Amino acid sequence: ALASGSVLIVTDTNVAPLWLERAEASLKAAGFTVYSAVLPAGEASKSLENYGKLLRLLADKHLTRTDTVVALGGGVMGDLAGFAAATYLRGLRFVQVPTTLLSMVDSSVGGKTAIDLPEGKNLVGAFWQPSLVLCDTACLDTLPKAIFRDGCAEVIKYGILFDRDFFDYLSGTGMEFDREYVIERCVAMKRDVVDRDEFDVGARKLLNLGHTIGHSVEANSRFTLSHGQSVAIGTAIVARAAAAKKILSTEDCGRILKTLRAYGLPVETGDNPEILAGIALSDKKRSGGTLDLIVPEAIGSCKVLPVPVSDVLAWIQEGM
Ligand code: NAD
Repeated sequence: ALASGSVLIVTDTNVAPLWLERAEASLKAAGFTVYSAVLPAGEASKSLENYGKLLRLLADKHLTRTDTVVALGGGVMGDLAGFAAATYLRGLRFVQVPTTLLSMVDSSVGGKTAIDLPEGKNLVGAFWQPSLVLCDTACLDTLPKAIFRDGCAEVIKYGILFDRDFFDYLSGTGMEFDREYVIERCVAMKRDVVDRDEFDVGARKLLNLGHTIGHSVEANSRFTLSHGQSVAIGTAIVARAAAAKKILSTEDCGRILKTLRAYGLPVETGDNPEILAGIALSDKKRSGGTLDLIVPEAIGSCKVLPVPVSDVLAWIQEGM
């Protein structure tokens, strides 16, 4: 339960006209003093500048440790508001109200908060667990279909990682799945991994399935491909390479590709493998002489494989 007091709602220019009034009204009705900050929508808002603005606003409104920051929006608002909450007065209460599918199933769970620097994404952040995460699936009704589809790439990821039956369910329904059921399952799966490895030194790495090479694809497209599309391509590349190496059956590989396609997600790229490998190897997730690739052994079971730097290009080539 939250103490009464002040609340700062942090939201963006797309979400504010749709959902802010309602959030403000219900918090006011519950007795809170409510302030709001509306920042431009988009990744560029996860900046030092906006972080500073939020800190100054928290100071200006005299919020104390028992007051609360509420992130109302997707992962961008969640990460930014969460980092301000984690650091102002060494930590305020933090509540996430995720409004995108991705933020419901992924970024609002696990306590990672961050902002970007011009030098790279998520370079500054903190682990700071929310006191509450409130998912209202009605928020998804206003979400553009392309952004919903992006979140589906992460949803499918959970099936490939941990749960074959769940993957089968998703393959059967396509995008018309039962939202409450799917969000609940994904949150439970992410919670279980985070419980085992809160600070991301072991099992939590599994959540990077499709992301290591996906990030290269995303960067190489100069961000004309969305994150979800890039993760889908990254997942497809690693699945095809795993099948070529007989780590994954060709049948399961085929089903992964078919399901991604059925959600309207891409599974091919004409990118130059050498460029993709170069970007992957300059990534912060590289440790020493190896790069951790998350490799499916079957639908529902994946492993963290430290791939020697000299083999990364071959992996990507095999997966194209
Ligand atoms: P986002 O927050 O930019 O939201 C996507 C778009 O949807 C934005 O334009 C937003 O304004 C709009 N929007 C949000 N909710 C809406 C609604 N209900 N109706 C209409 N429009 C709505 O992006 P995202 O995909 O939610 O999150 C991506 C961010 O999450 C990245 O910055 C990424 O680094 C971060 N992330 C963090 C974690 C973590 O563990 N902390 C995990 C995954 C991703």
